[in-house]
Amino acid sequence: MKHLYCSIFGHDYRITKRVTYHVKEYSCKHCKQKVTTNGNGKLTPLTPKYQEINALLEKIHYKRAQRRKPILNR
Ligand SMILES: [Zn+2]
Repeated sequence: MKHLYCSIFGHDYRITKRVTYHVKEYSCKHCKQKVTTNGNGKLTPLTPKYQEINALLEKIHYKRAQRRKPILNR
């Protein structure tokens, strides 16, 4: 069921997780609906499929960040 506040004013999303620089997960302050940024930079409901994609993105992003360090020390 949709929260009354959200149906009038729209969702009030807060960032709950930064997956990469461009992909973030959000949760509505009022109804707790979770959304994420998709490949097109638009918000989409955070389904188990997207949770899976984000977990994978986070892993790749973390590995890249790790790999960047030795280059900086050269
Ligand atoms: Zn909401």
